[in-house]
Amino acid sequence: MAAFDFRPGALSAAELSAAVTAREISAREVALSALAAIEATDPALHAFNEVTPELALAAADALDARLAAGTTTATAPPGPLTGVPVAFKDNMNLIGTHTTCSSRMLQSYQSTYDCTAVRRLLDAGTIPLGKLNMDEFAFGSSTESSAFGPTHNPWDTDRVPGGSSGGSAAAVAAGMATITLGSDTGGSIRQPGSFTGTVALKPTYGRVSRYGCVAFASSLDQIGPFAHTVRDAALALAAICGQDPMDATSVSRPETETQAFLAATDPAARDLDDVTGLRVAIATDLLESDGLDPRIRADVLAQAETLADRGADLIEVTLPSTEYGLSAYYIVGPAEASSNLARFDGIRYGLRVSDPEPTDVMDLYLRSRAAGFGAESIRRIMIGTYALSAGYYDAYYGQAQKARTVIKQDFARVFAQADVLLTPTSPTTAFRLGEKASDPLAMYLSDIYTIPVNLVGTAGLSLPTGLIDGLPTSVQLISDYFNEAAIFRAATTLERAVQFPRNDVPCGV
Ligand code: GLN
Repeated sequence: MAAFDFRPGALSAAELSAAVTAREISAREVALSALAAIEATDPALHAFNEVTPELALAAADALDARLAAGTTTATAPPGPLTGVPVAFKDNMNLIGTHTTCSSRMLQSYQSTYDCTAVRRLLDAGTIPLGKLNMDEFAFGSSTESSAFGPTHNPWDTDRVPGGSSGGSAAAVAAGMATITLGSDTGGSIRQPGSFTGTVALKPTYGRVSRYGCVAFASSLDQIGPFAHTVRDAALALAAICGQDPMDATSVSRPETETQAFLAATDPAARDLDDVTGLRVAIATDLLESDGLDPRIRADVLAQAETLADRGADLIEVTLPSTEYGLSAYYIVGPAEASSNLARFDGIRYGLRVSDPEPTDVMDLYLRSRAAGFGAESIRRIMIGTYALSAGYYDAYYGQAQKARTVIKQDFARVFAQADVLLTPTSPTTAFRLGEKASDPLAMYLSDIYTIPVNLVGTAGLSLPTGLIDGLPTSVQLISDYFNEAAIFRAATTLERAVQFPRNDVPCGV
């Protein structure tokens, strides 16, 4: 055994990869310790839908063999993620795993190809530990709509980890993986990041390919990382970003952007405690919204002061149209979802209920879809189908797209004068399991600060800033399109100031 603590989470990705690359510890030891951590911790949390020891050990052994031989290839260089244990939300395909979307509909579906973001993270030399629990088809904010049972919050197992990427958040928070990937359509990376005290990034729409990630709302979906540190999130983004011919919405961006967001987190490239000249906007109207815990409001203002102390210029702004965000999202999201989920018909894809023998194809569709989808999925499909139906399209979908345009104009006004916008991530800390499960509107409200970012398409990161009654709280840093560098700059400086006590997590390895 190595002389130092190499449990996932005890070391940052950068430190772990340095130790593996220097062969102070083997990738196999890292993989075995991560698998042992999952075995010990996951029964209380249920972050994982599937653990993949064979894939983990095969990747680790291949890595150790290459490092021993001193041979590296273009796709397996020793780099800042070499030997880092990772895991993936269960809506991302990886050959050798199931991709269930935590739904009965896809319970037995086996991946036949790799999601691009997954492949890119693995090609950076990481070790795949498995697939992570989520709200069914990513519909939800608590991971309670999983057909396989909820994930528990490692800070308090009576509470939800947030959602829909709750497994991805809990796995990192509990130290079972160093980096995980989630998807964010309306807050599903950032809100669970906030509830679990993890660094959680939704990149700009188009920054990361969604190929191989089961689609929810194609004009909103984006893949991003969960990590312990801002630096690790930047390293993960650098590994997964970039154009992909398999996703027409992914864009080619200049290499200088990647260099800039890596430099923003690199002590060799800048004074990490200095944000002189960074223009930070505070949306005064968003801080007045009903339902915002006053302690979270006070924390956001305190973080703004910290940034000002480190040289940032604070600017007060308003975002009056964001109040329409939730309503617009709950038309656009379900509308696109109802269309994307039409493929799960029991014939081409998904669960088929054919016993007793169906009377006709409609009977087969109806019985398969009724059995395969859970209550929240059915609710979304019905809302979306209604909103798109003839005669209602203009009143609902058309109107929602107009709201989206005015929200974009609000953001454009902010980013004409500011580099980052600082807001709460979530109006509350983690709620109790069951607390909002029967009240969809209360559940939807927990995404009030995250959803506008998806509608606009810019980037947002949730940064843990402390504990309220023992539960993590956080701020959200939002940038203009493709300016994640500004987010990383502010987040790194704040991270150093707050020193979030991530190792105090009660249910961790
Ligand atoms: N919680 C939101 C919803 O229920 C967002 C989900 C997501 O981002 N996937 O739709």
